[in-house]
Amino acid sequence: MVDELETYKTKRDPQKTPEPFSAKSLDKNKLFFVIQEHHATRLHFDFRLQIGNVMPSWAIPKGVQNDSTVKRLAMKTEDHPLDYRKFSGIIPEGEYGAGEVTIWDEGTYVPEVEIAKGVRKKIEAVKEGEKVMLEGIKKGEVKFYLFGKKVKGSFALVKTKGFPPGKTNAWLLIKHK
Ligand code: MN
Repeated sequence: MVDELETYKTKRDPQKTPEPFSAKSLDKNKLFFVIQEHHATRLHFDFRLQIGNVMPSWAIPKGVQNDSTVKRLAMKTEDHPLDYRKFSGIIPEGEYGAGEVTIWDEGTYVPEVEIAKGVRKKIEAVKEGEKVMLEGIKKGEVKFYLFGKKVKGSFALVKTKGFPPGKTNAWLLIKHK
């Protein structure tokens, strides 16, 4: 996986935070996503896409929109365990990410590939889709269709090159037209 859960575990003490550490896949035929509203030092929205038992994650200060004319800055953060998609609660004062977490939207997603300019194909088979997602994250570009309650449609996450200056974990979330 991308960085598995090593970074996640080193940042958190299971004795001190209610956040989940387990990762059980309940439905092997679907891939899930979640967007969590996180009232940390700065409000942001954590966008997580399941690959296997982990959820590669991005912190999006302005959240996810269905509007294809805006690009959202999305900072890549550490992989989270799959069970995190069900988490809402309070991370205690003094702990990493202290503040309230609520689920802003959730649902399933289907990875996509571009088969011709502007034309996308859904990869419905989970194993193949996960492979496409993993390769895409390594390359710095993933495409997917979100089936959420608030967000719906084709999106892409694209790693930026040298923007903002000095940031190596900056991606852009773009809604496909
Ligand atoms: Mn967060």
